[in-house]
Amino acid sequence: MGVAATDFDVVIAGGGIHGAGVAQAAAVRGHATLVIEKERIAAGTSSRSSKLIHGGLRYLESGRLGLVRESLRERRYLIHAAPDLVRWVPFHIPIYEDSRRRAWQIRAGLSLYALLAGPRRQSGFRSLPRSAWTSLDGLETRGLRAVFRYWDGQTDDAELTRAVMRSAESFGARLACPAEILWAEPAAQGVRIGYGDAARESVVTARVLVNAAGPWINEVLSRIRPAPPLFPMQLVQGAHIVLPGVLERGIYYAEAPADRRAIFVMPHRGRVLVGTTEKVYRGDPGAVVATPEEIDYLRAACARYFPRLNGAPEEAYAGLRVLPASHSKVNARSRETTLHCAPADPPRVLTIAGGKLTGFRATAERVLRRLAPLLPPPAAHPPTHELPLAAAASPPR
Ligand SMILES: Cc1cc2nc3c(=O)[nH]c(=O)nc-3n(C[C@H](O)[C@H](O)[C@H](O)COP(=O)(O)OP(=O)(O)OC[C@H]3O[C@@H](n4cnc5c(N)ncnc54)[C@H](O)[C@@H]3O)c2cc1C
Repeated sequence: MGVAATDFDVVIAGGGIHGAGVAQAAAVRGHATLVIEKERIAAGTSSRSSKLIHGGLRYLESGRLGLVRESLRERRYLIHAAPDLVRWVPFHIPIYEDSRRRAWQIRAGLSLYALLAGPRRQSGFRSLPRSAWTSLDGLETRGLRAVFRYWDGQTDDAELTRAVMRSAESFGARLACPAEILWAEPAAQGVRIGYGDAARESVVTARVLVNAAGPWINEVLSRIRPAPPLFPMQLVQGAHIVLPGVLERGIYYAEAPADRRAIFVMPHRGRVLVGTTEKVYRGDPGAVVATPEEIDYLRAACARYFPRLNGAPEEAYAGLRVLPASHSKVNARSRETTLHCAPADPPRVLTIAGGKLTGFRATAERVLRRLAPLLPPPAAHPPTHELPLAAAASPPR
């Protein structure tokens, strides 16, 4: 669990995608970096996502062009840097006579999406001819009016996170795991941090503490003395179910009949993954599970479009989105990352709130830019988007 060194430039709370990404960006610059993870790499939201490396087509509806453009750029980088981990997959959008979104709206959205992605072979989309509809994994064709096909990325979120952490370690980052941040307080050069467990506590110093604890960011902030303001946030859970069955043609992006929200039906390790939901969560982040209502909702949505995918779920899980607290509807809220710095100095603590798996590298670069005045001058280094990310020889299950 412990590490021999005690003086670091950057100490990071949390080994999810953001913690691993910041560790990679800090270590490649030559900064002495330590990640402290209380359970295991990708134990939190970074193993419970929809596993898509995408621009987020639906964010166009809320006008978040900057987020979509950045995510499409990161998709391009990741497919190049991690070809074993992120792959192009055809996505299908079926339009039925009762769909809320009309064919012209989807066509307009996909045209904008392609424009934001730039001129690339996979940026295009097309409307599939009627003759192709019956080859789409048993997709319900009654009432079907059009099917659009475009391309986006799919990954294994936990394996991607572990690959980023291995890359960070290859540049000298250290990992203490399992070990949790217990307290932090101002010190002459930055911050002193106590970590470990009930049996053993270690103390390190850092110029800066990066709080990348996902749904636990306020718990980490509450362990800092003197107490900084918490991040005003709301946790929103999203569930997935894993059904028996196989999809051979790619991913399907459809509307849940109950409320017309967008859901994905996806191939996943020889099974079918269906998600997701959006439900405000107020409990212990470590105890979040898919509720029976969420499971029924996802089963009904899948069966509407794929009547043969009606088996009992083999698995169900839920993850937590960190959204800024607000009175607006959950699906209208920003998915952008917020960097919360409170207080600015001392102790030097920077919290990463929200964000996307897809955008972790861009977020890590923003964090390092923000921290630059507190850190030693960086060593010459290759840009993070050029660092290769490889799958493990035999990934842990
Ligand atoms: C349902 C759902 C679907 C999603 N789908 C997608 C998608 O398809 N594509 C996409 O781009 N994004 C998606 N996202 C968003 C993405 O998954 C998250 O933004 C991302 O995983 C958050 O990573 P994180 O590192 O901030 O947090 P986490 O992955 O939760 O990591 C936080 C880590 O901190 C550790 N920790 C907590 N407290 C302490 C402590 N005191 N000391 C040490 N360690 C601590 C935890 O154990 C955990 O490992 C989805 C999110 C949800 C909820």
